Amino acid sequence: MSTNSSAWRLAAVWFCVLCAGLAAPEASDAQSLRVTLLGTGTPNPHPERFGPATLVEADSQRLLFDVGRGATIRLNQLGISMREVSAVFITHFHSDHLVGLADLWLIGWLPPNYGRRQKPLRIWGPAGLRRITSGMEQAYATDIEIRVKDEGLSLSAAKFDVTEFSEDGVIYEQDGVAVTAFEVNHGELIKPAYGYRVDYAGRSVVISGDTRYDQNLIEVAKGADLLVHEVVAIPEKLFEVNPAMKRVEAHHTTAEEVGAVFSKAQPRLGVLTHYVLTAGPGIPPVTKDEVLARVKSNYSGPVVAGRDLMTIDVGDSVAVADER
Ligand SMILES: [Zn+2]
Ligand SMILES: [Zn+2]
Repeated sequence: MSTNSSAWRLAAVWFCVLCAGLAAPEASDAQSLRVTLLGTGTPNPHPERFGPATLVEADSQRLLFDVGRGATIRLNQLGISMREVSAVFITHFHSDHLVGLADLWLIGWLPPNYGRRQKPLRIWGPAGLRRITSGMEQAYATDIEIRVKDEGLSLSAAKFDVTEFSEDGVIYEQDGVAVTAFEVNHGELIKPAYGYRVDYAGRSVVISGDTRYDQNLIEVAKGADLLVHEVVAIPEKLFEVNPAMKRVEAHHTTAEEVGAVFSKAQPRLGVLTHYVLTAGPGIPPVTKDEVLARVKSNYSGPVVAGRDLMTIDVGDSVAVADER
């Protein structure tokens, strides 16, 4: 893994995923969006797929969408300190999307170079987020009190700066970067649940969050440069021994449906993340290659199977690298 200190420097060979004849993009192109998949996993504690987290960099802003298990490790692998995260956005309140938040918040406040945040952590999310952050402030109050006394750290920086929203619309605008939240359908009882669209300098990235096949998402994603979408693929045999898996499948978008979403939204590139690939005793999981093949059965455009630390530059061309 590369540990470059410069966020905009490449350590890998770029290749264009769209078509022949397009040059590899300038890595320092300030007018491009850079998206890095920090975690492409689920609640499954998989060593190669950390919890859901997607970093979007636009000029000097670093926006983090969900903070799953290990997000801080991935940021550190990129040479990005926790204080450099400009804003956090939470899609919904399933724990796999949140368990890394206390880690980011608290180690970001510590004196080593990976920390040193001097102000509250700015975070956006659906109504109900403040209940969670307040609970975290309470859960870690003893640690915070000890460190304020013992290490002289700033109490005011050990806080969250929370903005909640409860409907679709632009929720963040700063220096030409706009973030739009849009409701998705993660299941009747799993509310609120949102996806996000980031727009900057004529470029756009859509992050599905956790959702079933969703028409609202398709409308928002139409014409976007990049669509990062979740996916589920559960072996048929598993339904026979564990019918409850049908409920899990119903909360997500099957690979074939993701192909249909990409076909309707027509992004310049589709990327798969949040792989719900549940297995059982003697029943192996569906492979990522098979997932990609199923997506392609409904979609003939550009698509890649995301993996942790995959970086996508969205500029004049859309380019993918496994490391940076
Ligand atoms: Zn999830
Ligand atoms: Zn979920």
